[in-house]
Amino acid sequence: MKKWNLVIDVALCHDCNDCFLADKDEFVGNDFPPYSAAQPWSGHRWMNILRKERGQYPIVQVAYLPVPCMHCDEAPCLTADGAVYKREDGLVIIDPEKAQGRTEIVDTCPYGAIYLNEELQLPQKCTGCVHLLEEGWTETRCSQICPTGAITLVWASDEEMAARVETEGLEAYRAELGTRPRVYYKNLHRWTKVFVAGSVAYADTDECAEGATVTVSRDGASAGAVVVQGAVNNYGEFLVDELEPGGEYEVTIEAPGYQAHSAAVCLEESVTMGLVMLIRG
Ligand code: SF4
Ligand code: SF4
Repeated sequence: MKKWNLVIDVALCHDCNDCFLADKDEFVGNDFPPYSAAQPWSGHRWMNILRKERGQYPIVQVAYLPVPCMHCDEAPCLTADGAVYKREDGLVIIDPEKAQGRTEIVDTCPYGAIYLNEELQLPQKCTGCVHLLEEGWTETRCSQICPTGAITLVWASDEEMAARVETEGLEAYRAELGTRPRVYYKNLHRWTKVFVAGSVAYADTDECAEGATVTVSRDGASAGAVVVQGAVNNYGEFLVDELEPGGEYEVTIEAPGYQAHSAAVCLEESVTMGLVMLIRG
């Protein structure tokens, strides 16, 4: 049977916050029984956009990760009495009547997606716009408003989603939690992986070292094992991405007629190495 899923492309999110505001427009001050009570004016981020800076000046990227409720298939927030329950269409709902006073539910979500409505003493979160979907909508407010198409609502069977995961490289955020989210991310490496970048020029001519090869290999126990290769572009810059964070890497830059340049870098986070001048020899 088909269920609701969200696919979010991290590379397309520009932190405009339109999805956050559309959520506010829909839910602040509006009750949608039996699925949700009104969201309070402040303090809640049912669509929460996380931000991360990658690298250092002059080669810097910023990654944005929109995080709603993941509508997990193995959701630790579910309760035996139906205060939090999973629908057949995949959505996880907090019952606004049964959950009243159940403040402990807030801490059951490892993603921090549940917020406490202090006035009502009610845990609350993204409902997947279930009230709209039941009216026949084929978009959530966030997917409808996103100007870059970063958020897509998908009505698909688990088998169809598994195929998309395979062909499109979709990933769950913090899959190690084992909650089996129904929100999938594209280009999640922008959040979970690191890059090494730098600028390269020829010392004798001051020209950009366009075309020079960059080899990033693991240092230490697996020294010499090539991890990934890149090339210096026509601006004299390189950026090798999708590296596992943590540990030492060796970066080797080579160009015909010039001495190879090697440097060890610690990639706990993305690193911009600065300018490398290649010496003729
Ligand atoms: S509306 Fe789209 S681009 Fe804007 S913050 Fe949300 S996900 Fe990102
Ligand atoms: S993200 Fe949190 S609140 Fe949403 S279903 Fe998963 S555990 Fe429950």
